[in-house]
Amino acid sequence: MDHSFLSTPIEFLKGVGPARAELLKKELNICTFGELLTLFPFRYIDRSKFYLISGIRDDSTFIQFKARLIRIQTIGMGRGQRIIATVRDESGEIDLVWFQGLKWVGEMLTPQQEYVIFGKPAMFNGKLNIPHPELEIPSNHPLSLNETLRPIYNSTEKLKSKGLDYKGIGKLIKTLLLHEKFRVPENLTPAILDGLRLLDRQEAFLNIHYPQTPELLQKAQSRLKFEELFFIQLRLMKQRYGRMEKHSGHRFSKVGEYLNRFYHEHLTFELTNAQKRVIREIRADLGSGNQMNRLLQGDVGSGKTLVALMTMLIALDNGFQSCIMAPTEILANQHFNTLSLLLRRLEVKVGLLTGSTKKAQRKEMQDMLLAGELHILIGTHALIEDNVQFRNLGLVVIDEQHRFGVAQRAALWEKNQVTPHILVMTATPIPRTLAMTLYGDLDTSVIDELPPGRKAIITKHVFEPERKKVYDFIRQKIREGSQVYIVYPLIQESETLDLKNLIDGFQSVVQEFPPPEYSVSMVHGKMRQVEKDAEMQRFLNRETQIMVATTVIEVGVDVPNAAVMVIENAERFGLSQLHQLRGRVGRGRDQSYCILLSKYELSAEAKKRLSTMVHTTDGFVIAETDLQLRGPGDLQGTQQSGILDLRIADIVKDEKILKYARNLAADIIKDDPGLVKPKNDILARHLQNIDRHQQNWGLIS
Ligand code: ADP
Ligand code: MG
Repeated sequence: MDHSFLSTPIEFLKGVGPARAELLKKELNICTFGELLTLFPFRYIDRSKFYLISGIRDDSTFIQFKARLIRIQTIGMGRGQRIIATVRDESGEIDLVWFQGLKWVGEMLTPQQEYVIFGKPAMFNGKLNIPHPELEIPSNHPLSLNETLRPIYNSTEKLKSKGLDYKGIGKLIKTLLLHEKFRVPENLTPAILDGLRLLDRQEAFLNIHYPQTPELLQKAQSRLKFEELFFIQLRLMKQRYGRMEKHSGHRFSKVGEYLNRFYHEHLTFELTNAQKRVIREIRADLGSGNQMNRLLQGDVGSGKTLVALMTMLIALDNGFQSCIMAPTEILANQHFNTLSLLLRRLEVKVGLLTGSTKKAQRKEMQDMLLAGELHILIGTHALIEDNVQFRNLGLVVIDEQHRFGVAQRAALWEKNQVTPHILVMTATPIPRTLAMTLYGDLDTSVIDELPPGRKAIITKHVFEPERKKVYDFIRQKIREGSQVYIVYPLIQESETLDLKNLIDGFQSVVQEFPPPEYSVSMVHGKMRQVEKDAEMQRFLNRETQIMVATTVIEVGVDVPNAAVMVIENAERFGLSQLHQLRGRVGRGRDQSYCILLSKYELSAEAKKRLSTMVHTTDGFVIAETDLQLRGPGDLQGTQQSGILDLRIADIVKDEKILKYARNLAADIIKDDPGLVKPKNDILARHLQNIDRHQQNWGLIS
């Protein structure tokens, strides 16, 4: 098949010199004809619609109207010089303004001529005008492509400075589409095209840029969205099968003494149904002979750690070691304490290895690991250092995985001849659509039920003027023996400012809660890890009653005695973040509270976020709402993946298409795991093509 047109370097396109080619590469990552063609319009202007001048508002985006030129003036001097052309239709007058290219504009404009004017209104000195519009003479529409729906492209300041604004880009794309060699090879099989009645690929490209009709535009969009999502899914499914084939896993066929004794003698409560279900899912994986790759999702406190522990006992019953990797030292410590306590009457050897483990101890631990005398190792990323070697590592549990880079995880995969089973635990619920795309190659288990008897956290939204009441409430709770978090936002763009906010906040908290009666801790991201840990530890030991913090406390540390969470400027936090923060309380026996303090005037979105928090504690509902409010781009952990760098599809809006794509990809891979059958040739080749061109794919674990 001829890919040569699409893979032609962009500098060979008429209108693109070396300078523009360089810029297109830098700004938009466009190096070839094909890549320019996948710069899809972000919206369309209906050019069959004409405005009246009296109907123009400054919130109109691009508009089009017909009017006669009645007056031309050149005003100002030097750099401030500009041309103002006044045009009139039956409803009124408006000024067109040019600041650049004055000589050319002056020559082009013909008084009394009627024009079709196209541009974006702006407000200047309290008056509407249209800066740098496009003018056409009505009878003179050179339409070799249908331009009723006119494409508008995203551009950047730098591109604009080289004449590549939405118009300039549009022109280049038009040149491509009208090129005598323009040809876009199909990449889907006839079976798929017919089965889903999809538009042919070349038609889709033509119609996405210059839609013949609104219906064809819609078909072009569906086709291209499908294609985009389908190949992501196809790739994930293929990888997953490939890995199963390559990595046969350790088979943990039996449940033995360790698990049974723990379950019957040491577990003081009944497992929730969700926990039981998840353990069944895990056991099926472990016994299958394939390597397990499972994502375990569940809200904070839903009992994931316990599930992990039981999984490790199964490993032990089958003669294998396990490890848990935690994102911070303090969390590793906490896991160590919890597990040691739970396992104290079983003969299980548990070790802790972190950055601050002493050298001699480390050596001893390594020897025991190699000898197989240590059964479970808990630690931070110190665990993946080269000299940590297991005798027979069978299971790796990764806690709060979004803190771990994908590369770090991959290092673990490679450490052993037979890849250990992997269980990734996360307390950040991931909406289904996102999970399908981000973790499409992991199996997912969900604990969607909290252990019985938990008191639901009471969440209140309080406006700034009532701050005093909040302080009174805090005083009362401290008197009753509770501890309190007060969290301040930290937003990267203005980190210094936020830090000042935090420190001001800290000082006012100390003023309100002065020593010796009270003592207040502070933790923020600018502190060194050891300082943070020490300060957290003081709070954990109840040496301080109030913890003033930024979102660094978001992840994991368990302080059961903390029953009040106050979030300052709550309107500035994202929904998932609010939910994570709230998860810091509600871990003990007392009724817990989350107080969202905000200013009075709120955007519609902020209102929605805060009311969602007040009305639900269900992490999945919150994650879905968050995804709908913000789109996937901002969600935690998605940036690094690169996979959500979608050109046209939107995993929220296009959920239906995503499901189709996923099901179809699964069916195809089931039938032909290696994509070697001739009928799938076209798919296999397109995947290879993507591999060659998109490094991003390499980041997916
Ligand atoms: P997660 O890791 O999901 O945040 P944990 O496993 O740490 O949750 O469990 C939170 C607390 O609930 C722990 O104290 C744990 O012992 C307890 N717990 C776990 N499962 C149950 C259950 N089925 N019934 C009662 N308590 C439970
Ligand atoms: Mg936990």
